[in-house]
Amino acid sequence: MSKHWVYAFRAGEADGDASMKALLGGKGANLAEMSSLNLPVPAGFTITTEACVHYFQNNSQLPDGLVDEVETSLKNLEKVTGKGFGDTKNPLLVSVRSGARASMPGMMDTVLNLGLNDATVDGLAELTGDKRFALDCYRRFITMYSNVVLNVSHHAFEDILDDHKDRLGVTVDTDIDAAGWLKIIADYKAMVKSELGHDFPQDPKEQMWGAVKAVFGSWMNDRAKFYRKMHDIPEDWGTAVNIQSMVFGNMGNTSATGVAFTRNPSNGDSSLYGEFLLNAQGEDVVAGIRTPQALTKKSREEMGEKNPSMEESLPEVFAQFKTTVDTLENHYRDVQDVEFTVEQGKLYMLQTRNAKRTSKAALKIAVDMAKEGLITPQEALMRVDPGSLDQLLHPMLDPKAEKTIIAKGLPASPGAASGKIVFTADDAVRLSAAGEAVILVRDETSPEDIHGMHAAKAIVTARGGMTSHAAVVARGMGRPCVSGAGEMQIYAERSEFVSRGQTFRHGDLITLDGSTGEIIKGAVRMIEPEFSDDFHQIMAWANEYKTLAVRTNAETPADAKTALGFGAEGIGLCRTEHMFFDEDRITAVREMILADDEAGRRKALAKIEPMQRKDFTELFEIMDGLPVTIRLLDPPLHEFLPHTEEDVAQVAALSGVGADKLYKRTKELSETNPMLGWRGCRLGITFPEIYESQLSALFNAAIDRVEAGGDVQPEIMHPLVATREEMANLVAMTHRIAKAVFEARGKSVEYKTGTMIELPRAALLADKLAETAEFFSFGTNDLTQTTYGISRDDSGRFLNPYIEKGIFEKDPFVSLDQDGVGALIKIAREKGNQQRPDMKMGICGEHGGDPASIAFCHKIGLAYVSCSPYRVPVARLAAAQAAIGGEG
Ligand code: PEP
Ligand code: MG
Repeated sequence: MSKHWVYAFRAGEADGDASMKALLGGKGANLAEMSSLNLPVPAGFTITTEACVHYFQNNSQLPDGLVDEVETSLKNLEKVTGKGFGDTKNPLLVSVRSGARASMPGMMDTVLNLGLNDATVDGLAELTGDKRFALDCYRRFITMYSNVVLNVSHHAFEDILDDHKDRLGVTVDTDIDAAGWLKIIADYKAMVKSELGHDFPQDPKEQMWGAVKAVFGSWMNDRAKFYRKMHDIPEDWGTAVNIQSMVFGNMGNTSATGVAFTRNPSNGDSSLYGEFLLNAQGEDVVAGIRTPQALTKKSREEMGEKNPSMEESLPEVFAQFKTTVDTLENHYRDVQDVEFTVEQGKLYMLQTRNAKRTSKAALKIAVDMAKEGLITPQEALMRVDPGSLDQLLHPMLDPKAEKTIIAKGLPASPGAASGKIVFTADDAVRLSAAGEAVILVRDETSPEDIHGMHAAKAIVTARGGMTSHAAVVARGMGRPCVSGAGEMQIYAERSEFVSRGQTFRHGDLITLDGSTGEIIKGAVRMIEPEFSDDFHQIMAWANEYKTLAVRTNAETPADAKTALGFGAEGIGLCRTEHMFFDEDRITAVREMILADDEAGRRKALAKIEPMQRKDFTELFEIMDGLPVTIRLLDPPLHEFLPHTEEDVAQVAALSGVGADKLYKRTKELSETNPMLGWRGCRLGITFPEIYESQLSALFNAAIDRVEAGGDVQPEIMHPLVATREEMANLVAMTHRIAKAVFEARGKSVEYKTGTMIELPRAALLADKLAETAEFFSFGTNDLTQTTYGISRDDSGRFLNPYIEKGIFEKDPFVSLDQDGVGALIKIAREKGNQQRPDMKMGICGEHGGDPASIAFCHKIGLAYVSCSPYRVPVARLAAAQAAIGGEG
């Protein structure tokens, strides 16, 4: 059978169906489907996207056979409607609309009322008994066609119309009578003729082909190209053209036009939602000249409106409409967004498609539909965007609130907060203790700001990327954070910052939105999160289907409890250096790092060890029966060095070492590239007493818990390992300390020793590490940093331009670079398993909370992902989707 370029539809039968979106476009496929369902669709036909593609590939030539097929379809349409195209007594008028495979609202062209000319307009007047109406249709057609097809500027028509309104002394179009329109139309036509050198086309066929070619051409207009680029829509899809007999919503008070959603797209309520206008054409609803009315009595009353709803003013048509949209929702098994027209009491459906909706509505609708039996729980899970859950768990800016943006940075930690600006951690603590909401604004944060970050409602930094100190710590704490807001110049010493030409001082109110990266002047209205029953239901279903375990990155009891509440199945990363950040500990840590001999270090460690032991005990208790992965110390040293004179004096007083000597030692230890420096296991191997002390605290804590009747599953993890010898050394040390503690306590516990894979060398030689390591956890923050050679702390400044230029598709610190970093992970997984077939592997970099990265982890067979507490629900849903998606 030869290829068809045209697919017809009429109520009761159609050549196409909803599965043919690629060929017929979304609108055409759904018009066909609605017709097959015997719903009241004005008859018409669709010219395929293939015809459009042919047109562009062949120098704007229509494909052979298209003209004949259109002629035949037009004849059939005349038969079905009982009207004639160009018939002066009973004219057939059509709409010509674009319709691509993916919805591209407003991007391409449409022409309505096509088929009108100087003769058929009289036929329409006679037929309807309404000359003014017929002329109104004609003037709209001339304007639209001239603009879309003949490229005559819209302004030229507006100028003529305005002159006539002045002449007639009227302000609104509806006050112009038939005689008025007749003169305006004459002027329109004269203007078109003088612009183009020929008359406005009177032949309906010529009009139709002009419109078809214009719709094809609109696929390549700048608007459409830009939209495609933004939404990743391929250029070679092309658009279909829908030619459909016109129906009129502007034929008096039993006519109307409107739009509706089968459920509320903003909150998900399962009641019909939408608006309509009596005696109007579709464009009047959009133009906003008249205020549309509610569809249902209930929503009219809720809105406190006086004008009657459709349910009240057109009760019979409304009843038919309600049954029709219920049929559509049941048929498509999803919320529908429809357009309709009522022509003198008769309902017509012009469009249906799956409705766009807010995160909140998506969750409620998915759960409701599964409970109603319309969809399965698996389908419900697939219909909620995991990323949107993150928003639902935090306060959000009211989308209706006005806002003045003063800077933009990276959306480092979701949620929104308002508060007074403070520039130091100490001010944050002081003011928040006095009951003020504060926002900590820094160039960047360091461990000594932790208390301030905790006290603040949110954090802003001018420097740093998505895995900078501020970003990681804020996410862990569930504080909103915007990092890398480079346009802010911060003068902390003067307690002010300047951005976009404005100065903001200590105590001024600002708001930030950590989900968008926006920093806003003043306080903005918020919407509080709610853990609805729907949320709990989706989470329960997620657990039924996911196969990846979801652990959390947590080091404080508060974070561990939050994560457990969100369903974490253990701790995948406890960064022990974060436990050292508390104000009462950091001085001891500094004393240890700055000590110039082992004795000095041991003295400082002796102060820290009992505190660590208590911390570990608490974590083991909260995570009773679940694995807890404790990573030994991995501070980039610079994060701990004292910065101010005051800091040095404090360490001097505590350690009894002179300030001068401390300064000297600080200098000795400072590194040019601290991220590639003396950190991770390099610290533990060169100063073994540090790791020994941590291990001793850890094993003692484990036994403390066992003695208290607890069930502990410690996993000891060594950071930044690159070689087999490092690994062997660290594993031997771990066993040695374990043995010593177990002997001293007369008890032992099971434990595992493993490593993070954070360096390309570790991934490439993973089999060598697996000789002694019992598990791997992919530290994809450092692995991304070292694979790309891009600093995780400084990349914020150039990553945005890279993404804008399309050189990077996404920030690789947010969404795993599956091609590069992912290849290393796969190598490590295979090599690790060669050496140790049952080796458990997971991921604990920030990517563990990113849905696309989670899907990758599922695909390559990792056992778990670990992420910050507030991302645990996101990860559970993403893991379930990966499992369900993988089945089909
Ligand atoms: C990592 O590098 O991915 C990781 C989890 O460790 P950190 O972020 O503490 O360097
Ligand atoms: Mg790391």
